Amino acid sequence: MLDIKAHINLISALRDKEDIHSLSYAALECRIALEAICIERIRLSSKYLSPRDIKGWRPKDAVISACTSLGDDISKGAKMSIGSLPLNSNEQVSIEDFQQVEYSNLGERADLKLQKLHRLWQRISGVALHSPVARIFDDSISIYGDKAEITKKINEVLSFLTDYSKGNIEFGHLSGKDYTFECLTCGHRITKSIASIKKAAVAYCPNRDCIESYLITRSDDNGELSFSSRAIAIKCSSCFYPTVIPRHLFERLTIEKDMNYSCEKCARDLIIRLVPVFFDKTKVNQKKTV
Ligand SMILES: [Zn+2]
Ligand SMILES: [Zn+2]
Repeated sequence: MLDIKAHINLISALRDKEDIHSLSYAALECRIALEAICIERIRLSSKYLSPRDIKGWRPKDAVISACTSLGDDISKGAKMSIGSLPLNSNEQVSIEDFQQVEYSNLGERADLKLQKLHRLWQRISGVALHSPVARIFDDSISIYGDKAEITKKINEVLSFLTDYSKGNIEFGHLSGKDYTFECLTCGHRITKSIASIKKAAVAYCPNRDCIESYLITRSDDNGELSFSSRAIAIKCSSCFYPTVIPRHLFERLTIEKDMNYSCEKCARDLIIRLVPVFFDKTKVNQKKTV
């Protein structure tokens, strides 16, 4: 678990030196501590995530991406307790059985106040970690921020970290049962929490070198889950053989950018190009209703 108190001590010691270099370094440590909190929370749920699930580079974006895949509970405070249930493996266990168990508290996970964290992360950088372009037009010759402003923001981050450090346990997504299967292309295990899949969910292969992604769908009839590869078959213009291309590759294309591939059968070199196509909306709607 991240040693938040060590970060607090380091930042406080640097702040107390009061010179601008120490204050700037303290601000940098503030930013690193805020980022580390987000990374730790996501890392503990990493078995449910692929690098492609994490969109954006700011800590807030990373946590929000993880929440999109796992559910909001990953950022919330939670208590973890343990209790023993005399179980006979043949017996069905009910909610009432669990309610009668005596639990011992293992610890409490702090609430990750994401909006506040993000505001502090931005503001500490704004006052301390940039030489503002606006200074080109004023008489100041200092390339550093204002000492009083930096100290004020450091104190705000310290207060946030102190509050957060009251959590004495850290855990990721508690999902209940998982749905797992092996990637058809590379064999890596893909794991999704069943609770996080409503009607359908996209799962990216966790292997960084694999571009495969899958659509997991829940049956309307019995609620059972199944998966299918997200791919598009494109017929070769020469031999008409349909080569199956992972859909994820199309998501990387930008307008009029080419993607090269070879026909799996005749090896002819082909190009896929993303070109905007405009439809008459009424005609498209008419087509849908047929
Ligand atoms: Zn894979
Ligand atoms: Zn071909």
